[in-house]
Amino acid sequence: MSSAKIPALRVLRTRSYATASRSSLGALSAAARARAEQLSSQWKGTSATGGNTKNFIGGQFIESKASDWIDVVDPATQTVLTRVPETTSAEFDEAVATASAAFQTWKRSSVLTRQRFIFELQYLLRKHGDAIANSIVLEQGKTFADAQGDLLRGLQVVETASGIPTALLGNHIEVSKDMDTSARRLPLGVCASIAPFNFPAMIPLWTIPMAIATGNTLILKPSERDPGAAMIIAELCQRAGLPEGVLSIVHGTVPTVNAICDSSIIKAISFVGGDRAGKHIYERGRKTGKRVQANLGAKNHAVLMPDANRNHALNSLLGAAFGAAGQRCMAISVAVLVGNAQSWLPELVERAKKLHLNQGFEKGADLGPVISQAAKKRIEGLIASAEEQGGKIILDGRGIEVPGYPDGNWVGPTVIQATTDMRCYREEIFGPVLIVVTADTLDDALAIVNANPYGNGTAIFTQSGATARKFENEVEVGQIGINVPIPVPLPMFSWSGNKASFLGDIPFYGRNGIDFYTQNKTTTSLWKAEDAIGNKASVDMPTHH
Ligand code: NAD
Repeated sequence: MSSAKIPALRVLRTRSYATASRSSLGALSAAARARAEQLSSQWKGTSATGGNTKNFIGGQFIESKASDWIDVVDPATQTVLTRVPETTSAEFDEAVATASAAFQTWKRSSVLTRQRFIFELQYLLRKHGDAIANSIVLEQGKTFADAQGDLLRGLQVVETASGIPTALLGNHIEVSKDMDTSARRLPLGVCASIAPFNFPAMIPLWTIPMAIATGNTLILKPSERDPGAAMIIAELCQRAGLPEGVLSIVHGTVPTVNAICDSSIIKAISFVGGDRAGKHIYERGRKTGKRVQANLGAKNHAVLMPDANRNHALNSLLGAAFGAAGQRCMAISVAVLVGNAQSWLPELVERAKKLHLNQGFEKGADLGPVISQAAKKRIEGLIASAEEQGGKIILDGRGIEVPGYPDGNWVGPTVIQATTDMRCYREEIFGPVLIVVTADTLDDALAIVNANPYGNGTAIFTQSGATARKFENEVEVGQIGINVPIPVPLPMFSWSGNKASFLGDIPFYGRNGIDFYTQNKTTTSLWKAEDAIGNKASVDMPTHH
């Protein structure tokens, strides 16, 4: 890719292979090291012991000829686990060419062939779930249980995609005497998926089964920060019988993303990530006529009513604010305490103090490190900004040390009392930081939630059906939880984040996922019944008159 295409949007963490110097595995615990060695020896595309992550093109795990490589660093120890290539133009073109060639046969594969692939894939994902979770703990920093949850939420999309024969049933009606119109759902062609770091298994699995079961071929670009889960999933797709070229994986950062946006062969892009990249990809992809769905950032509010079940509300809030170190797009990052619920704040803080930070394989770990040193610095900067703007830091997670992991990107649970004009409220922090604001009434709480530009998720805790109904009716956010802190719909539904949290027209998975990856084709045909030839053979000598 020519460097002229690279916009000055982000400083890349690209470094040459030769300058990477932190790849000693010595800093890993014995448990982590054993898992890292297992990953490197058992899987073709990924390494956790300092080798290179491969591209997956034409059914082969291929070592890139890239000159730029990006370190993938264990956030608990700074150990370089692997490096991902900035895929070269030639390699990218090869991936597109093989995906395009594979589409010619895959689009004509029977829907039962595709369903069988989905069945096999779900079996293999379950069987090898621990390997995927191990890779996530090492590269992303989640706790092992949370990493298993990451995979499980993706598996549910795979399982739902097994209903593809029913989902693709077409329509047919006789529109006039002897004239029929039928509508079929056909695949688009080569599609692309660009994933974020925070769900390295779930988000690739939002798109792989949906795109492929509908007859498309897919090029996936995982996050350059944690590509391992996607590489294991690719190998499992291959073992499940997926023909070569139907799924490809190319790695990289902005240049690779721009090549996807500019390709005249790629028909659709699914993006999940931050606002800046998402807006850029949406606009650039649309310029070449692509269908684009883009899930972006969030600021999710939980409204605690004074009549709520206090224990359930506080535990839910803590889990949703601090689980995965706050690095979930559906994390609750703002608590709105209404009326007397404001008196629960000291208890909230006491409970938050009991959460344990640790490396993800360690027993009792509730949350792990944040993804990078840069993320830690950014989060700490936003905490400091609250102090500067008059916010009150009730629990400060800065400067926390975790025994045995002196170099981890640790930020402990942080609770800040703030107002909605402060930076810490307005910006997505994407770390274990809960902003607390207060409201006198439900109407005041609704006004706060609705004034926020984002619309990914929100929750209310109350024992009153009437209060819940009013909230549900009046809140403008797309995914609502009533006594449920992270209301991500299961994949028989579709993702429904809205406002500034989504760009595009057709959301991810569920019924909408089928719509996103297909186009309708209608045929109208006239076969007059009166033209039917008789069904008894004539035995007379033909005379042609
Ligand atoms: P990110 O935007 O930095 O990266 C996402 C993808 O875009 C990566 O593959 C990356 O290589 C690429 N990318 C990054 N910067 C780019 C640029 N300038 N130009 C082109 N491509 C670029 O996001 P992240 O840090 O990996 O993930 C965290 C963000 O994702 C948060 O904002 C979170 O809210 C959001 N997210 C949203 C959802 C959702 O469903 N709404 C789900 C998960 C994460």
